[in-house]
Amino acid sequence: MSKVGRNDACPCGSELKYKQCCALRVDTLTADKERVSRLKGRDVDLIKEMLAWAPGNVAGFSVYANAPIPWTSYSNAAASILLPWAIFHSRPLGGGTVAEAYFASEPRPLTAIERTALDIQRRAWLGAWAIEAKGPGPWLHVRCALTGQRKAVLDTIASQTVQVGDVLLARVVELPDLATFAGMFPRVLTAGDMDRIVAVAREVTRTATGAIAPAALRDDATVSALIREADAVCAAADAEQDAPSA
Ligand SMILES: [Zn+2]
Repeated sequence: MSKVGRNDACPCGSELKYKQCCALRVDTLTADKERVSRLKGRDVDLIKEMLAWAPGNVAGFSVYANAPIPWTSYSNAAASILLPWAIFHSRPLGGGTVAEAYFASEPRPLTAIERTALDIQRRAWLGAWAIEAKGPGPWLHVRCALTGQRKAVLDTIASQTVQVGDVLLARVVELPDLATFAGMFPRVLTAGDMDRIVAVAREVTRTATGAIAPAALRDDATVSALIREADAVCAAADAEQDAPSA
């Protein structure tokens, strides 16, 4: 690959000059990776804490009951999307989410970084993120097919496996100048699969045309419908692959 000049168009496709775009990400890559791993560590700890707290404090709470897809479908991988669903989206007995109840009750004083972690989780939604460009390093340039929003996401794991054009059904959590995936359906979807996901999202949120509002994509019923549709898409793809060729 030839070297990109600082005044050249950025290879990520942002239409900015390289020096105004991904060059900045290269300069701060080590620090940004460190911030993401710190944030993800706090996220995981808080989710574990809320999962332990919820059964005694939230009526009707169960991770397993009413999960959008059977808990065992994707073994451990499913936890990456089912746990955030149970904490941030599911509304046991039609009430608030576990995160809302936990935030309100403050069973112990939360630190500033924990407050930030909870707050950005509550603002996240389940999007269908198409990979538009990759790089530098673990940065992915993504566009949500549901809301139309574009983001640069730093993800050291997903960036190793996805290709431009792939679609990830995932939640993105966002610090002011840094975003990462937090809770992802464990299979990469194709552009064709994405059309089905978009159709389901339009139906459930009653959005016939144009961008779907992020608030509608945080809704329990919407998230469940999208996870179920993604599961059906993957099951159909598996069945096709397993079928003997004629
Ligand atoms: Zn760029």
